[in-house]
Amino acid sequence: MSTIDFTETPVADFFGSNSFSNAVMKERLPKNIYQELLAVQAGEKELSLAVAEVVAAVMRDWAISKGASHYTHWFQPLTGLTAEKHDSFIAPTGDGKVIMEFSGKELVKGEPDASSFPSGGLRATFEARGYTAWDVTSPAFLKQDPTGTTLCIPTAFISYYGQALDKKVPLLKSVDALSTQALRVLRALGNETSKRVFTTVGPEQEYFLVDKEFYDRRPDLMLTGRTVFGALPAKGQEMEDHYFGAIKERVAGFMRELNTELWKVGIPAKTQHNEVAPNQFEVAPVFQNSTAAVDANQLVMETIRTVARRRGMEGLLHEKPFAGVNGSGKHNNWSMATDDGINLFDPGENPQANARFLLFATAVVEAVDRYALLIRSSVATSGNDHRLGANEAPPAIVSIFFGGPLTEIFDHIAEGKGNGKTESGGHIKIGVTSLPVLPKDVSDRNRTSPFAFTGNKFEFRMVGSSQSIATPNTYLNAAVAQVLKEYADRLESFKGSPASDRNGAIQEIIKESYAKHKRVIFNGNGYTDEWVREAERRGLPNIKNAVDALSVLTRSETISLFESHGVFTREESESRYHIYLEKYSKQINIEAGVTLELARRSVFPAASGFGAKLARDAAALAAIGAVSSAQEKRAQRVAELCSELFEETAKLETALGEAQDTADVQTQAKAYFERVRPAMDSVRARVDALEKLVSKEAWPLPGYEELLFKL
Ligand code: ADP
Ligand code: MG
Repeated sequence: MSTIDFTETPVADFFGSNSFSNAVMKERLPKNIYQELLAVQAGEKELSLAVAEVVAAVMRDWAISKGASHYTHWFQPLTGLTAEKHDSFIAPTGDGKVIMEFSGKELVKGEPDASSFPSGGLRATFEARGYTAWDVTSPAFLKQDPTGTTLCIPTAFISYYGQALDKKVPLLKSVDALSTQALRVLRALGNETSKRVFTTVGPEQEYFLVDKEFYDRRPDLMLTGRTVFGALPAKGQEMEDHYFGAIKERVAGFMRELNTELWKVGIPAKTQHNEVAPNQFEVAPVFQNSTAAVDANQLVMETIRTVARRRGMEGLLHEKPFAGVNGSGKHNNWSMATDDGINLFDPGENPQANARFLLFATAVVEAVDRYALLIRSSVATSGNDHRLGANEAPPAIVSIFFGGPLTEIFDHIAEGKGNGKTESGGHIKIGVTSLPVLPKDVSDRNRTSPFAFTGNKFEFRMVGSSQSIATPNTYLNAAVAQVLKEYADRLESFKGSPASDRNGAIQEIIKESYAKHKRVIFNGNGYTDEWVREAERRGLPNIKNAVDALSVLTRSETISLFESHGVFTREESESRYHIYLEKYSKQINIEAGVTLELARRSVFPAASGFGAKLARDAAALAAIGAVSSAQEKRAQRVAELCSELFEETAKLETALGEAQDTADVQTQAKAYFERVRPAMDSVRARVDALEKLVSKEAWPLPGYEELLFKL
């Protein structure tokens, strides 16, 4: 347990102490080198080897002074996790001694043998080489455990032929694409000062904690991250007494250590609270540049698990560890900002800012409507299938929440009443200085919307708790970039025209686009059946499972969107489709395997043994003439369920065997979804019914009561 006494070491003193941040670089690098590096970070320059040499030497000395012996290029392969291969700094001097070395080359480029990472056919094993390249937009950091320290350098991961093998490269490319198009629009709006647009992201991370003692006795949790069996205890989350409740001491200690670890590496962990389900919690950092935020979120997930283990617990990041109570998601708060500090989704203080806001917000509406399938696919995982559309998460229908006042303003513009008064008093005419501004707080709260405007940012809430946020942000950036490109094409033709013409054009774009895409706006309760029907009437897609959702990646519109903005080549899109389908199948394959194993080797023997004991008791009671009907009935019910369980496990085994023998990845994923999953559910139904009948002592697994309430 590593805790810091904040009275002795104030947070501000140790915050970022393990991060090779810009502040550290500014202090330690020669001024001209630091300036160069800033230009590289801003995308204005390429990193030269000469600069890399200086940075590497300084980074090495910094890391070694903090106890580091090794460094690693830290990257994000398509497993959705992070990967690291450690090299020590040592270089033998030939006389039995070593010096500590780290060159510019070693900083900018690594060559892990990449053959065991998914590439979806992009790389054959004989050309297994993959390259990692330093991502200068995300700071290097130190990972510390009780026995040592490693310097981690965030990197991109690419194949010998330059194809992206990771989640970072496409994200960086999508930010570039978005920046290019957003700047064109800004210029057309008269902005001459901003040099770059980037996206800001603040992910709220949900997770569960369980006591290690119980976790260790649940092979399903250990191998799949979720319970494949488990009857609901007498108490679930119905009392709503956990949400924002007082934090238990053991959990508070965990959170304090989690924060400390995150703060050390410069992650601005800010908010924490109990979530809706028992033993469910949330942590949220202050938003950052999206590439740093993506890296930070990977570290947050890893640190949750590490710190939990240190404290005799386990952190669960799965989207649905427990049936019947809320699952975990990740709210991806997303906005666009310029390098000179303008938040493009800030409604602003004057009509000019209002016009900019309305135009950019319209672009998001259009992008989310046109690319709803793509956005849906960005959260398509087997874990999230358990959550989307269940009663704690947005449905699988992509819609936007704007709130009353803002919707009213847009409706007015769409109806051509751009300079009319709205009922709530907003008075809109774009670009004319004498008019009042948008109401300050234009949004209220709606927790049921999958994509909510929350004042100065959009909050994408369909993201699963365990997934990397790189992909959702990449797709979102690309979709918005495309719409902005089309706006820019139109607006640029008004260059040099009088301002009134340009303002007319802006108004026309908002009016046209909003009218066409407003079907995606929904301010009501997204958890109701009426909404599902209403969405269908509006023609909004409702893709309920990951396998169907992923197929959009092979559509020509998707491929050309990504190609035209340089985010993915056709091969990259197609290979990702395969990788995601394979991952889906593998996940369910493991879950089905665990289900069979537990059902056959733990549950069945325990339950049938217990049933036999009841029968023996009944017979013994009958022999002495005592009434035995209760024992008899119960023995019978247990025996019935056991034989059903026997049959259902056999069916699951058949379905699983057939799925395993399917060669085509798409058909295979479908087989897992359509046949294996329902067969697992049938087994589960019997097991959960048995759990309610078999005595607690005889039951082989810790129950939901222990897992959800004991901490
Ligand atoms: P909640 O949605 O639970 O009410 P908050 O409103 O406090 O939470 O904010 C949630 C997250 O949104 C935080 O991580 C915060 O830093 C982030 N956020 C705030 N402003 C922006 C922005 N402009 N861009 C991206 N994320 C932002
Ligand atoms: Mg939120």
